[in-house]
Amino acid sequence: MKKESTENYQSIARELAKAFASRASHWDQQREYCWENVDELTAAGLMGMSIPREFGGKSASFFDVVTVVEELAKACTLTARVVVEANMGGISAVMAYGSDEQRAMAAPIVLAGDKPAICITEPEAGSAATQMKTTARRVGNGYILDGCKHWITGGGVSKLYLIFAQVINEEGEEEGIGGFLVRCDPVKGDLPKGFEIVSRERTLGLCGMPEAELRFEGLEIEDRFVVKPAEGFRRGFAALMNAYNSQRVGAGTIAMGVAAGALEHAKRYMLERHQFGRPIAEFQGLQWMLADMDTGVHASRLMLHEAAKSRGPNNSQFPDPMMSARAKTFATETAIKVVSDALQMFGARGYGSEEPLERMYRDVRMFTIGGGTAQILKTQVASHLLGIKAPQTRDGYRNLSNA
Ligand code: FAD
Repeated sequence: MKKESTENYQSIARELAKAFASRASHWDQQREYCWENVDELTAAGLMGMSIPREFGGKSASFFDVVTVVEELAKACTLTARVVVEANMGGISAVMAYGSDEQRAMAAPIVLAGDKPAICITEPEAGSAATQMKTTARRVGNGYILDGCKHWITGGGVSKLYLIFAQVINEEGEEEGIGGFLVRCDPVKGDLPKGFEIVSRERTLGLCGMPEAELRFEGLEIEDRFVVKPAEGFRRGFAALMNAYNSQRVGAGTIAMGVAAGALEHAKRYMLERHQFGRPIAEFQGLQWMLADMDTGVHASRLMLHEAAKSRGPNNSQFPDPMMSARAKTFATETAIKVVSDALQMFGARGYGSEEPLERMYRDVRMFTIGGGTAQILKTQVASHLLGIKAPQTRDGYRNLSNA
């Protein structure tokens, strides 16, 4: 089979984005998942494009994916997010660390249009993810899950869930954190016993994407659905979290794409809008703002592309953690500023719903929070620069100062 070129993927995305732009406000206002767009993305082969050919995908590179994501994000943040999660994060963890059976099970679900959900965060374990309380107790030939997760993107629409839990062996000892796969169809009310979608958050932006609280009570998982990297549970969480580096590059790209879209709107409006008898494009104050916006988007794109093409240490299949962390924090913080400046250029019109700026402004805000906050990622960068493992616990800091 001939490999699609990056330009080809990009032009498919650009073409689809025209209709996505016209529907973006609908999903936002109605708080509705973009099923119609998902059908078109599926038909165009963009859902699961990164899945290897042997499992029915296109073996597209992460770089190919980010070029698609940028085009989609200019038009509809929600749709771009669906594509990131159908190619990076949860699905890429399964494709890299899952068994053949798990890969053969997960790939067709995504290729048919699913955006898998990754379930890590809990009410008492956000940035401190390893302090999660959800347990997976070893019973017979499987595990029983009990616990709660919140802010799970896609909870209620996704058909594939990768749930992280503390593994407890038959002796009652903690073995580390493992990943557990659940297949279901919540839209049709088809959920396994012990798996409940409790509620949905009311969010500031990206309103068409459900962010759900999930509860597990005696949820039975067979051994064959446990994603266990070769390192075992003790060190396996770190390996599984490696996959998150691709998701971070994807998230940064969505933010950059939204900013690039806002920049286009701002250019158009500067030439269109007249005040004091001339186009506002003639005011140097706005020209310099525009130049800074463009520079920020351009620098973000370069960093994200570099990260997307990179590979982490130890033969990792995923982008380099440092490059991903740097690119995500820079691109997301820059995008929030760029979109805010673009809205400013529209004056009152930018604040209203006639233009897409107010939606883009709300949408872009989440990207310094979800998928590792800016503070946590900067800590990761600083740890690398200083050559220390920056401890996050109170005891850890005491140990560091005693060192
Ligand atoms: P906290 O960890 O409570 O942090 C509060 C503040 O303290 C933040 O500003 C943080 O940066 C700062 N902080 C914490 N520790 C440190 C430190 N050591 N040094 C400096 N500052 C620190 N999770 C999932 O598992 N799956 C999902 O699909 C998912 N989707 C999400 C979608 C959205 C829209 C959002 C907003 C979140 C999503 N999350 C998801 C959760 C997300 O990963 C967490 O919100 C994030 O890890 C931060 O956790 P927290 O919100 O509990 O904040």
